[in-house]
Amino acid sequence: MSNEPIVIEAIINGEKYRTEKTAPRENPARPNEIVGYAPVNTREDAIRAIDAAYEQFPLWAKTSIDERIERMRRAIQKIKDATPEIAELLSREHGKPLYDSKGEIAVSLMWMEYACDNVKEVLKEDVQEHDNGKTIVTKDPIGVVSAITPWNYPISLSTIKIAPALLAGNTMVLKPSPLAPLAASKVVEIIADEFPPGVLNLVHGEADVGIELTTNPKVAKIAFTGGTQTAKHIMKSAAETIKHMTLELGGNDAAIVLNDFDVNDEKAMRRLVISNFLTAGQICMIAKRIYVHKSIYDQFVEKYIEAANKWIRVGDPFDERVTVGPVNNKKQVQYVQSLIDDAESRGAKVIKLGKVLVDETLFKNGYYMQPTVVLGAGYNDPIVVEEQFGPTVPILPFDDDEQAINLANDSIYGLTSSVWGEQEHALKVAKRIQAGTTMINTAAVQGLDVRFPFGGVKQSGIGREYGREGLLTYTETHVINVPKNLDLPYIPE
Ligand code: NAD
Repeated sequence: MSNEPIVIEAIINGEKYRTEKTAPRENPARPNEIVGYAPVNTREDAIRAIDAAYEQFPLWAKTSIDERIERMRRAIQKIKDATPEIAELLSREHGKPLYDSKGEIAVSLMWMEYACDNVKEVLKEDVQEHDNGKTIVTKDPIGVVSAITPWNYPISLSTIKIAPALLAGNTMVLKPSPLAPLAASKVVEIIADEFPPGVLNLVHGEADVGIELTTNPKVAKIAFTGGTQTAKHIMKSAAETIKHMTLELGGNDAAIVLNDFDVNDEKAMRRLVISNFLTAGQICMIAKRIYVHKSIYDQFVEKYIEAANKWIRVGDPFDERVTVGPVNNKKQVQYVQSLIDDAESRGAKVIKLGKVLVDETLFKNGYYMQPTVVLGAGYNDPIVVEEQFGPTVPILPFDDDEQAINLANDSIYGLTSSVWGEQEHALKVAKRIQAGTTMINTAAVQGLDVRFPFGGVKQSGIGREYGREGLLTYTETHVINVPKNLDLPYIPE
């Protein structure tokens, strides 16, 4: 792949469109290298894109489901063919190692294929003959969907919305994050090219474009993945016209390590380390605080550090030995560092993990952070209660299962969680955790299955993506009643 910066275009009503103003996207491993330029769209551009989607909606909603599936399958094949270039672009603009970028694209394709394979069955008309005639329940498309995505998984969090929305007969305007806009746009472009103009539109920009996408009365549904604070603004924006909403938000996922967890199980320990540091910890569903039963705490910490030192190799995303790349942006580095500094100032011990495979100058110039584990933090310290979204994790002891469950649940968040130990014991604990997903003896993307719904409880979100629910969430239920008894007996003549 050439290192020449690429220029991304917006897509409005099937036309590729370059803006005068563009936003450079830097390489987090070498911030003075520009990977590409994204358009800076205006609110007016967003309005044009929404108008195009709105006009196209009735036509697209009328197409057969077979046609929609056929078009989506063509897009899937083209994304498959382009995976090597897209993965390289993603690693360069995002900072995640190449294996991780390829993994993200693989998961995206898996979901798109699941959506194509299952949409017919899930959206099938339900016709019921009964004692009072016949009732038909249909799953109708909703209308124009505004999709707004974050920077950490820009491709999968776009395709998780595009595939079900379009297959169900909706049209869409998508806005990726300015912090990873390039590779996702390439994927959106491939998909949009397979559909009629106006079905899938792409605009870029900051909050002003996001505000148009969430207030415009022609938008019927918002599909948002991002931070909880942003979601609060979006809910207010959407209130005026009562829009449908799927919100996939932040998390502070607990990993509970029970007294019967085998600290000598190297594979399990490696899975736990990965569940903390994959994508440099910038995953909504990463295990962000570890609670360990006091009877095994000391051995656990020793073995955890051993496993982390083995797996974590920090460096350039294109170095095949590397497992952890730089953090995506400077602001995030500063935020994560501030949480670590705060914990240290309160008396916690911070231990560096793994090896660094880049020289000191590159490390300092890039947005690198050496992963750390934080010991001795208080249960209510910011490093424990805030979502760090970066390469550090606190480990804290607990006395008994009851306390562990309370600690896990004592959070405004409830995205995923994990319980580690003997299976039956772990299941008992898992059932009492407030979360959208709880995994046993694994965590984060390692336990993700696109066939089952994913989403959060409490302030981690509303609604579900993936699985049958992930398709149904882009539909309205429409009941058509054909009653036999047309006159109600209790209404007087
Ligand atoms: P963010 O909320 O800052 O930004 C997300 C998107 O919203 C961006 O495209 C941004 O430009 C846009 N935006 C900003 N202000 C807006 C406004 N007022 N109206 C409309 N749009 C607006 O999030 P981020 O920093 O990009 O992503 C990190 C967060 O996302 C973390 O909290 C993480 O946990 C969460 N996340 C959640 C999931 C999930 O599935 N639950 C997945 C990935 C990330």
